[in-house]
Amino acid sequence: MAKKRTPQERSADPAAQQMIIRAEELGIKTAFDRADDMAPCNIGGSGMCCKQCGMGPCRLTKEGQVGVCGATIDTIQARNLVRAISAGSAAHSDHGRDMAFTLKAAANGEAEGYYIRDVAKLRTVASYYDIEIEGRAPEEIANDLADLYIAQFGQQTGEVVPVIRAPEKRQKIWREQNVIPRGVDREVVEALHRTHIGDDQDAVHILNHAIRTGLADGWAGSMIATDVSD
Ligand code: SF4
Repeated sequence: MAKKRTPQERSADPAAQQMIIRAEELGIKTAFDRADDMAPCNIGGSGMCCKQCGMGPCRLTKEGQVGVCGATIDTIQARNLVRAISAGSAAHSDHGRDMAFTLKAAANGEAEGYYIRDVAKLRTVASYYDIEIEGRAPEEIANDLADLYIAQFGQQTGEVVPVIRAPEKRQKIWREQNVIPRGVDREVVEALHRTHIGDDQDAVHILNHAIRTGLADGWAGSMIATDVSD
């Protein structure tokens, strides 16, 4: 069993330390207790384990060893990383999707209790995408913006639109590297496809898609959520 850490070792935040002490007084187990009780697996913790298919799990502990399917340690670690990125991208982005649908519902009077609170922000964001704002009601603008944002999830080709808000120099680098996401769902699905047994075995190629999938989160799904709700 790993050593039990003090509240100060568990968190640098004084408020969190107080909560940890109080939970202990009440006999409530927290994630800190469970982490101290469970030593991580050395092989899994080092990313040397693959369980992407039923022929595994494959544990690569020796130099030059490959999995049953022939995957090298580089391939396995790249696959594990892109799958983790995909899960994060999906979690953040699905929240963004719901925010976009909520915006659409609010614009059409179908979301009781929700309303457009910051019209100035709505007009600013709509302007980034050349959505007409002059002489239009906030609800009309919001409806168009919601449609545009909803489309970013299922878009199959091209580029997700929020990337035009990145510095031009950065956009140029992304285009040269071919990592601008086409659509949020497309990149997450492709990440899972590529990392399935018998598909992409090239670690660099897989990592290239990891960047694309991460950008789909930061420059589409998460940005949409932030635009609508923050
Ligand atoms: S994908 Fe390859 S390395 Fe991973 S569990 Fe299956 S056989 Fe093993």
